[in-house]
Amino acid sequence: MVEGGASRTESVRAGLGAASAETILIHDAARPGLTPEIVTALRGALESGAEAVAPALPIADSLRRADAEGRAQDDVARAGLMRVQTPQAFPTALIRAAYEAAGPDAAFTDDLSVAIAHGAKARLIGGDPRLMKYTYPEDRLMLEALLGGARAPCVGAGFDAHRFGDGDSVTLCGVRIAHNKGLVGHSDADAGWHALVDAILGALGQGDIGAHFPPSDPKWKGADSEKFLRHARALSDAAGARIVHVDITLICERPKIGPHRDAMRVRTAEVLGLPLDRVSIKATTTERMGFTGREEGLAAQATATLERPI
Ligand code: MG
Repeated sequence: MVEGGASRTESVRAGLGAASAETILIHDAARPGLTPEIVTALRGALESGAEAVAPALPIADSLRRADAEGRAQDDVARAGLMRVQTPQAFPTALIRAAYEAAGPDAAFTDDLSVAIAHGAKARLIGGDPRLMKYTYPEDRLMLEALLGGARAPCVGAGFDAHRFGDGDSVTLCGVRIAHNKGLVGHSDADAGWHALVDAILGALGQGDIGAHFPPSDPKWKGADSEKFLRHARALSDAAGARIVHVDITLICERPKIGPHRDAMRVRTAEVLGLPLDRVSIKATTTERMGFTGREEGLAAQATATLERPI
């Protein structure tokens, strides 16, 4: 590692001073999409006699000069014009001599230009759109698309219900709430997170919570549902998917959810590694109708939105 300089040229000079290999590749870190294929092709061109090599792409747009006010001037024939990328490859001795000859105030936009000014035989090889330079904030989206591959949103839905029984608290979305009843279930009976786990599994097309954590398995008796949710997140990671948003609705007359909503969002966001604004928790009653209205039990439904590789 060497310290960079105040300008690109100074940084390159510092790197050249430290390099000891026979050939050197000079790259812009602002082009994160470098592939092994490009490196191999650059080295191959050097081995077959080129003294300076860079990847380059043809220009698809029409080219035209404009004045400072944006008025169109004469057109520029694009045939034969190339967009030159990095990394650019050189015999180390040659590019070092070229920089020395260029002097301290030389203003070149890339290293190929420095080498050509020094008389090097330069060659261009086929470039790669993934080598685009990260210049403007909006470039990030394009780079992500180019490097991460295309993704499609998938939405999964989940539902769960648990019966009230003896107890002094319930656990919902990872938060323990004092209550005059408990919830009956094989695990901790966290209906909110159970519905959410099913929603994530649904978006992944990987069955339901019962298939992954069979109630017949004593291992899950009294289990903290955080384990289930962490497992669902791990399955999503393993599938190359990304959980981008979750929305849970808790359905009960009591306990009142409002005072605990923020704590539930924080816990859920923590376990899923999501920003808080990507986690929604809502509550409703059923106006005293049905099993939730009679307070025989409570229910939850959830949706999870995942971005999955196409
Ligand atoms: Mg359940």
